[in-house]
Amino acid sequence: MRYFLLLMTGLLLSGVWGCSGSDKPKLVMVTNATFRPYEFVSGQKIDGIDPAIVREIADALGYELEIQDMSFDSLIAAVQSGRADIAAAGITVTEERKKQVLFTDSYVIAEQLIVVRRDAPYQMVADLKKAVIGVQHGTTGDLYVTKNIREPERYAHAPLVISALLAGKVDAAVLDSEPARVFVQQKAADLRLLTVPLTSEEYAFAIGKHNPDLLVRVNRELRRLKQEGRLDSIIRHYRELCEVEAEQDVVGGHRSMMAHLRDSLYVNFVKDRRYLYLWNGFLVTVCVTFFAVLLGIAIGFVVAVIRSTADQTGRWKAADWCCRVYLTVIRGTPAVVQLLIIYFVIFGAVDVNKICVAIVAFGINSGAYVAEIIRGGIMSIDRGQMEAGQSLGLTYSQTMRMVILPQALKNVLPALGNEGIVLLKETSVSGYIALQDLTKGGDIIRSQTYDAFLPLMAVALIYLAVVMLLTRLLGILEKRLKRNE
Ligand code: GLN
Repeated sequence: MRYFLLLMTGLLLSGVWGCSGSDKPKLVMVTNATFRPYEFVSGQKIDGIDPAIVREIADALGYELEIQDMSFDSLIAAVQSGRADIAAAGITVTEERKKQVLFTDSYVIAEQLIVVRRDAPYQMVADLKKAVIGVQHGTTGDLYVTKNIREPERYAHAPLVISALLAGKVDAAVLDSEPARVFVQQKAADLRLLTVPLTSEEYAFAIGKHNPDLLVRVNRELRRLKQEGRLDSIIRHYRELCEVEAEQDVVGGHRSMMAHLRDSLYVNFVKDRRYLYLWNGFLVTVCVTFFAVLLGIAIGFVVAVIRSTADQTGRWKAADWCCRVYLTVIRGTPAVVQLLIIYFVIFGAVDVNKICVAIVAFGINSGAYVAEIIRGGIMSIDRGQMEAGQSLGLTYSQTMRMVILPQALKNVLPALGNEGIVLLKETSVSGYIALQDLTKGGDIIRSQTYDAFLPLMAVALIYLAVVMLLTRLLGILEKRLKRNE
């Protein structure tokens, strides 16, 4: 147990302080790393055209660059609120977006293209009037299809749209031209492009309206990079890189089922050491769950004592009222909404590590359930014991501490263990704040391989294994407690 505690604390500390260590001012860039060749996860870091350009600019301006990954539709809000300094994610300049943020000079011209399955009958846009079209939520592709063709199906990121297309869930995908080309190269046997583009667009970086000074400096550096030919060489480098990778991914011909499975296992877990996404994600999940359980028990304990004291003695009315509000609010709202509120609103303006945010959010959430479990335990102890304790000369708090709570805690231990198991699975929504937990690790693999089956199965199996292990430990604990009676 001691080693486990040390390991968890080490993990937490490395997560919290791992990224600091320079005294240069920080430039926070937000992106959505599912958009090859512009931004993608490679190994454990975010790479691509946008990160490379912004890194050069940050270096020239004397900043330490920090890159954060989040959903595409949160990017504009992130720079608008000051949470991030610059958003760089192949963002198209539009009149609507200009009302919210400042745009730098543009650095690339792009288009929206249609991707279909190789055997599909579609040749032109007009053929798509009755087709189910998949888009990435909140993008210019989404806006175009909604306005000009028909209501699309919206997915969180581009690789998911491609997975849906490959799985036959949608008939066509409308995506930005370069990511679309990379997808089609990677799945050359299954997909093809309709060549006529739907739009012509310009990409630029977005900066908060409160920061015009940064805009001027970034534009100056951007112009320098253009003049020096550096911008072109960065763009060329990543385009070629993605092309080569795509060629390596293409596996041609018909293979047996076993060969197919072996290839899939290799591509999903072994290639580029993708298993590390699962392993690192697993560590984050365990760490968040462990500390959230501890925090939940601490909060739950205090709340339960306050509430049962108020019930039994009529004291601490105000504190009791606060606890009731806490219980109602926390139990009445979904954990994922609480997590988002704590991350984007409460810690909105401050720079806190995501692991800590998740621990606080899930700890507060779990505290409400733990409080009711412990209160139930306290209530289950015969009232006579309190009277007996007090008639022996103990005060209320002494009886509570020495007589009631030890018995109550023993009774509720199995229920507390259960709460831990529930919490472990609950943390799977951490990806909403771009924390790379186990589920998000699986998501990253899916966004790179477009294979839904194996990554999801692996993630499910890991959760299942941990839950089975915990259930077993709980069983042993329960038996021991029974024997102690
Ligand atoms: N260029 C598109 C837009 O700005 C999509 C960008 C992206 O998905 N990263 O809406």
